[in-house]
Amino acid sequence: MNSSAFHPPRRTLMGPGPSDVNPRILEAMSRPTIGHLDPAFIEMMDEVKALLRYAFQTDYALAMPISAPGSAGMEACFVNLVEPGEKVVVCINGVFGGRMRENVERCGGVPVVVEDAWGRAVDPDKVEATLAAHPDARILAFVHAETSTGARSDARTLAEIARAHDCLTLVDAVTSLGGSELRVGEWGLDAVYSGTQKCLSCVPGLSPVTFSERALEKVRRRKTKVQSWFLDLNLVLGYWEGGGKRTYHHTAPVNTLYALHEALILLREEGIERAWARHAYHHRALRAGLEAMGLRFVVPEAERLPQLNAVAIPEGVDDATVRSRLLADYDLEIGAGLGVLAGKVWRIGLMGYACNRRNVLFCLGALDAVLTDLGAKIESGAAVPAAMAWYAAHPD
Ligand SMILES: *Cc1c(COP(=O)(O)O)cnc(C)c1O
Repeated sequence: MNSSAFHPPRRTLMGPGPSDVNPRILEAMSRPTIGHLDPAFIEMMDEVKALLRYAFQTDYALAMPISAPGSAGMEACFVNLVEPGEKVVVCINGVFGGRMRENVERCGGVPVVVEDAWGRAVDPDKVEATLAAHPDARILAFVHAETSTGARSDARTLAEIARAHDCLTLVDAVTSLGGSELRVGEWGLDAVYSGTQKCLSCVPGLSPVTFSERALEKVRRRKTKVQSWFLDLNLVLGYWEGGGKRTYHHTAPVNTLYALHEALILLREEGIERAWARHAYHHRALRAGLEAMGLRFVVPEAERLPQLNAVAIPEGVDDATVRSRLLADYDLEIGAGLGVLAGKVWRIGLMGYACNRRNVLFCLGALDAVLTDLGAKIESGAAVPAAMAWYAAHPD
């Protein structure tokens, strides 16, 4: 072995996450590690909880990061809320809805699936009909922002339907948090999990979650033990909520929490509504460029996520060749398709710190050049001027 220090290449990350990390966050992360029960650390944890309430737009008492990535936030919600034999209505319109079903099954629950096409939002009428047909279901689970396709579902309407059927909502907000409108409190969502590496532009490895009082009540009333020791909220809360007598549960990822703290400060400095508006703004410029080039969006306009742009790969173009050229020649990462969309679409992320004019123009220019070089049937040279014209017509 002849190892030396690892120096990663400098990339521009415009895929489905991780997204470019703000240098202020990396700097915060490099500060000295302290004990995870140090009073100074506990003070910072309290700030993180308050800042998370702001990010989620809620006043729920429980708002904290799970010490593991978004997938662990998903598991934390399911293992705490689902008891063996319980029916859960799960909406599937992409990869992450499928993982929700898998979670229900592994908890011993009984999933009742509402299916929608990949690239479409969850259909509220189908949800209504399914909940009416299964009055014993107590939970409705859905993905707010389906990163695998770029579709946004109407979380507010789905939550209204769930409440009318006396169901809790269990919501994946991994890609929506900080990137598009999400009002957990006002919409009455019950158990919501997210991730740090998408529109918060933080390093990967934490999963912010928030639970309503109704959801917590269901956890407290469980007849069976939560099957995961690590994710059992009854135990985790002893560490995150213990007031002056917090007890050891696990060693918190101290420096990663510094990073999240800084990411949330950045979000508060910008203002959450301005962050949502910024994502919508640059998405429209990117769209002008992609469409001028002749590329077609997968998701109908009204259901599109600004932070995740799925476009069909032009006929005769090899997916992997284009992505590796972008990486090799431009240090630019865009995302491949997943599942049924593999090889058929590219997923261009505009998340958090990466969502800016420079990146929009850079990505359009790079894609145009590579596709033109490969002889693809596109409108060569049209993308960047179209986006520039859009910006000129819409000063921010
Ligand atoms: C990225 C993502 C996840 C998983 O998050 P990890 O941090 O990769 O575990 C879950 N749901 C959605 C919608 C995502 O985009």
